[in-house]
Amino acid sequence: MSGAHFAFTDRWGGVSAAPYEELNLGGAVGDDPGAVRTNRDIAAKSLGIDPVRVVWMNQVHGADVAVVDEPWGVGVPPLERSREWGSPVPEVDAIVTARRGLALAVLTADCVPVLLADPVAGVAAAAHAGRPGMVKGIVPAAVRAMVELGAEPGRIVARTGPAVCGRCYEVPQAMRAEVAAVEPAAHAETSWGTPAVDVSAGVHAQLDRLGVRDRAQSPECTLESGDHFSYRRDRTTGRLAGYVWLD
Ligand SMILES: [Zn+2]
Repeated sequence: MSGAHFAFTDRWGGVSAAPYEELNLGGAVGDDPGAVRTNRDIAAKSLGIDPVRVVWMNQVHGADVAVVDEPWGVGVPPLERSREWGSPVPEVDAIVTARRGLALAVLTADCVPVLLADPVAGVAAAAHAGRPGMVKGIVPAAVRAMVELGAEPGRIVARTGPAVCGRCYEVPQAMRAEVAAVEPAAHAETSWGTPAVDVSAGVHAQLDRLGVRDRAQSPECTLESGDHFSYRRDRTTGRLAGYVWLD
């Protein structure tokens, strides 16, 4: 589709040392801030985008959406949760823009990175959908914010990236029941037969109900893949990023 670009990183090609090796893009996971900035420059360069024109989020597993026209702060983009710049990065789990050329980024390590774009309207969104965010409706909230800026669900292209799969994401039975009461499509079972949640399936069901039909889901499971960061597997680890932007 002309004009819309979607990209998801894996863990290779950066400068971070273990346990964040190599391309950790998360600024709030304990990694050296200098390494994170270098990695963000490397990733942006490989995508052909300007690293200072990338908008990040302070993700908090909520349902709040911010509309953005410019990167946060002035000059060198601040890392999320960094105190050095007075934390101008807001605590939201989705960002939406009608500004072409501005890239939106979402950080994950098992949660579902959701990238949305209506190339005709020139509106894009990035959302962080873990289990809590999916249940709270962060993705429908992002779509509603896009529609307010002129997007139409039937034109929105949706791409979800590497995430822990429904066969790996074990949860207590009561938690699965709570999630499935809100989003039945997320009801899952692990490969070893215990209760599980499939957050990607829940996100896609939500998008489908909103009329977003042009969807694709990464086949990669972060927990099973050695090429991706996984919080559930490694606890202290890096973050992958998903990027969306419009020409
Ligand atoms: Zn899996």
